[in-house]
Amino acid sequence: MLIDLHTHSSRSDGTDSPRALVGCAAAAGLDVIAITDHDTAAGWDEALEAADEVGVRVVRGLEISCRYRGAGMHLLAYEPAPSHQPLLDELVKVLAGRSMRLPAMLQRLRELGIGITGDDVTAVAADAAATGRPHVADALVALGVVISRDEAFDRYLSPGRPAYVDRYAADLVTMIGLIADAGGVSVIAHPWGRASRRVLSTEAFADLADAGLVGIEVDHNDHSSADRVALRDIAQDLDLVRTGSSDYHGSGKVGHPLGCNTTDVDQYDSLRDRLRAASRTAGTA
Ligand code: AMP
Ligand code: ZN
Ligand code: FE
Ligand code: FE
Repeated sequence: MLIDLHTHSSRSDGTDSPRALVGCAAAAGLDVIAITDHDTAAGWDEALEAADEVGVRVVRGLEISCRYRGAGMHLLAYEPAPSHQPLLDELVKVLAGRSMRLPAMLQRLRELGIGITGDDVTAVAADAAATGRPHVADALVALGVVISRDEAFDRYLSPGRPAYVDRYAADLVTMIGLIADAGGVSVIAHPWGRASRRVLSTEAFADLADAGLVGIEVDHNDHSSADRVALRDIAQDLDLVRTGSSDYHGSGKVGHPLGCNTTDVDQYDSLRDRLRAASRTAGTA
């Protein structure tokens, strides 16, 4: 059984529609995928419909932009009740932060002499409920300014580059609590990738486990094999679930094909057990 618990559709910054994503998962031989768009559940219904048609099981998820000890973090939330108002309120704040920084980034680019407008971004982000830097990158590719998303990030959009603008992110510990209140479970995404590595010490993982974190995404292409061994040990010591996933973005992110990392069946079963317990406790079962 092949299980991939972290994928993106065009409702955020992936390039496949939710339906196409599920079709690609079937074609790749996957049995279970989680659709985990950034900060939005907008792809869930379409993905679930397609799942019935092609016989892939779809887990409803989100990848939520958070902050912890000053660093940006991504938190995977699985199966929270979408109607839980405090969670919805927080997601609205994160999405508003995305919308607000977009004009600021475009202004910076114009100051660099690049004639980019909001319409250029809308043209490449038509299906997206959560717009982000990858869409700005796609617009820069469409305008012929750069040849790839990677080049756009390296030259303009990564932290420290001239068009980078920060935005609102949810407090990580608060968000872990909100997901539990909504009857879902949370898994920290690519904890030792990019910005999050420097603050996520063993002690920090223990702090997050105390807050209700359920799992660690151990197998991710941002992690070296030494990282994976160390993270596996941390997960084991703290009784956290270990997941593995692709972080697939369609053609939007190279080197992350569907199923390039997968979650062991016993870990998936443990995640489902903890999900059942969480929804019972929250009263959402
Ligand atoms: P944002 O949501 O606007 O903060 O942008 C973050 C998204 O950009 C994440 O989905 C990353 O996968 C993506 N990203 C970050 N760095 C790069 C890069 N160098 N090339 C392509 N995508 C990237
Ligand atoms: Zn993304
Ligand atoms: Fe991420
Ligand atoms: Fe992701």
